[in-house]
Amino acid sequence: MDASGITDNSSNDVQVGAGSGNSGGIVFDGDAGTVYGNVTLQDDLTIGEGESLNVPEGATLNTGSYSLTVDGGTLTGTGQIIGTVNYAPTITTTGLSGGTVDTAYSQTLTATGDETITWSSSDLPTWLMLNENTGEISGTPATANTYSFTVTAENDYGNDSKEFSITIGTVSVTGVSLNKDSLTLKEGSSDTLTATVTPTNAANQKVTWESSNTSVATVDANGKVSAVSAGTVTITVKTENGSFEDTCSVTVEHGSLTNTSAKAATCTEEGYTGDKVCGICKEVVEKGEIIPANGHTYKDGKCTVCGEVDPDFEEVSDVDDTKLPQNGDNSNMTLWMALLFVSGAGVTAMVIVNRKVAKR
Ligand SMILES: [Zn+2]
Ligand SMILES: [Zn+2]
Repeated sequence: MDASGITDNSSNDVQVGAGSGNSGGIVFDGDAGTVYGNVTLQDDLTIGEGESLNVPEGATLNTGSYSLTVDGGTLTGTGQIIGTVNYAPTITTTGLSGGTVDTAYSQTLTATGDETITWSSSDLPTWLMLNENTGEISGTPATANTYSFTVTAENDYGNDSKEFSITIGTVSVTGVSLNKDSLTLKEGSSDTLTATVTPTNAANQKVTWESSNTSVATVDANGKVSAVSAGTVTITVKTENGSFEDTCSVTVEHGSLTNTSAKAATCTEEGYTGDKVCGICKEVVEKGEIIPANGHTYKDGKCTVCGEVDPDFEEVSDVDDTKLPQNGDNSNMTLWMALLFVSGAGVTAMVIVNRKVAKR
């Protein structure tokens, strides 16, 4: 790859002033280019390793009849590009885990870039093979050693090569154990389990983690357990070499409960003791109970709580009932009393009123 400035594949100078009407162009500062105005490519342009091209907002870069290829460099502002950008492969695998003698070894190399990527290597150790389509390297080593080799990923727009090494040891894994058999977590909290692969000098110390129910708790590649919702779940760790396992039972509990939807009973309507709701997941953990209506508390023909008139209230009277005021009607009663006073029967009427009783 060319590391000295953005590459154009012709003998022309880089495309400064290529904008329409000479109003824009690409300005280069070392290996970094910036597009100004509306620029149309006048040559093929490749952004190599260590190089960058930025098309800021407000500017556009039209590829026209030429190709724009990212081959290890950085292109930003692709939203302002008119035409197709080609991406050469970049191998993203950073390193390979160790293996053990007489134990099957497999890893898959990864790369970014346009399809189709083809993998190759000219110096693979004899026990290893590389799948040219998937990038998987696999095989069973017979001898302990550190094996180094170079792998190349290639597509129509370029290639990327990287050196890797695999250390193969003689000591096999005999087991794995977790630092905890059980764990209790509140929803939303987390804790990290530690796996110890034995013997400690085993060549391949790699383990994988799994949760039996990720809606209760999840576990990441480092053994960090994150509680999601109340329940129980089993976290399993497994060695890559020998598939040894250990488990930890994780109980996830609700957060503190708050009482909601509580309602006091009234004379006529039932109430509710309220639901106990988890403060974290908002789930109703415990349903409340219905409180029966209290019924009216009548006194002198009216409920002392809500003022409801007692339909069964009657006066006890030795005079014509039809001439007496109706139950609970204070204004009418006052009017009646005034009339009775005027008619000279006031004393009698007062006695009658005072003798009113509720029948119930
Ligand atoms: Zn909860
Ligand atoms: Zn009442």
